[in-house]
Amino acid sequence: MSIRVRFAPSPTGFLHLGSARTALFNWLYAKHVGGTFVLRVEDTDLVRSKKEFLDDILNDLKWMGLEWDEGPFFQSDNFGLYKEKAQNILDKGLAYKEGEAIIFKVEKGRVISINDLVHGKITVNTDQIKDQVLIKSDGSPAYNFACVVDDANLKITHIIRGDDHISNTPKQIMFYEALGIEVPEFAHIPLMMGQDGAKLSKRHGGVAVSEYRRDGFLPEALNNYLLLLGWQPQGDREVISMSEAAKEFEISKINNTQVKFDIDKLKWLNGEYIRSKDFKDIYPYFIKELEKNNIDPQTIDEEKLKKIIELYRVRIKVFSEFLDLADFFFKDDYSVDEKGRRKHLDKEENKENLKLALNELEGIDDFSHEKIEEVYRALADKNNLKPANIIHPTRMAISGKTKGAGLFEVMELLGKETVIKRIEKTLN
Ligand code: GLU
Repeated sequence: MSIRVRFAPSPTGFLHLGSARTALFNWLYAKHVGGTFVLRVEDTDLVRSKKEFLDDILNDLKWMGLEWDEGPFFQSDNFGLYKEKAQNILDKGLAYKEGEAIIFKVEKGRVISINDLVHGKITVNTDQIKDQVLIKSDGSPAYNFACVVDDANLKITHIIRGDDHISNTPKQIMFYEALGIEVPEFAHIPLMMGQDGAKLSKRHGGVAVSEYRRDGFLPEALNNYLLLLGWQPQGDREVISMSEAAKEFEISKINNTQVKFDIDKLKWLNGEYIRSKDFKDIYPYFIKELEKNNIDPQTIDEEKLKKIIELYRVRIKVFSEFLDLADFFFKDDYSVDEKGRRKHLDKEENKENLKLALNELEGIDDFSHEKIEEVYRALADKNNLKPANIIHPTRMAISGKTKGAGLFEVMELLGKETVIKRIEKTLN
């Protein structure tokens, strides 16, 4: 039997991180077993479903690389099928009509058990379940019924979805039985919460995948992060590609406890990918960052820009940090760390040291980082100073920052003229 899974988003909102993780787990499982990943759009709520949300969801899935093998199928195309199936159940005497609505009669006193692939056996007594609407009086299907009809129609073998659907599953099992169809396997994955254990919301960081896409996160990092939430690759690895993860992915290894979204860990992973990806793949993100900050990349020497990026890609976790650290390469009105300025420039001795440095720098013809470093070390020796006492004031004077890439490399890239101009300006 070939394995078929599906992701079934409702286009009534943007793609939530939790849903993206559900999609990812389905995709990984399909890849792992060589099965089929189906995309079904649950748009039975004609009022709340919006094209804008659908486009967003499809774009996000593509961006994450979660390409589907079949679909998208739309529930709004199947209203006739749902009615026909509800009529079958009605004809069998298992449902009744209330006006135009068709209602499923729940047989009381039964125990329904779900052999959940993540949680193990879950049992529910039908005494706790009231009669279920199959078709509403306006002719539209109830979610649980449409879901079953479509999952059966699409020959879905494994339903992997969030824990928030556990209470729907016994109802759906009754519908499978009523329709005389084999019940698929179920795997409910624990929900993703905020750090404080509350439902994930805006205040824990963005909740929509599109926000991370817009903010310049890398899809590899987001995927990698989401797959670690509830699933652990062998050997304590944390950085793992989707294709490697797909090789190992097992539903039975999904954790059965809730997971907490940790934006810092996601950023850390993003940083790992920024530093390890091919240069040509990350270069466009830096260009976009410049443009976002109204710096025209065309006005910058490309070779120099590439060197600057190489220096800073290892120091940032998200692309927006690039210009926080490196804006001084591109403009004279760069941001200045005021506390650092007071610490490293206000004192008279700092200014004296800076003056000494300025003197030496003016005499350097080959303004290379090796040469600058040599000059600085010699200067410190000669004046019995710690190199730091010249380095910190210089860094502050030319970049407005207390930290960043290696100072001598920064100076070389900035160029002699700019370095001298900025130190002079600081001294005046
Ligand atoms: N449309 C449902 C949701 O977005 C899907 C439920 C399911 O996977 O069965 O939560």
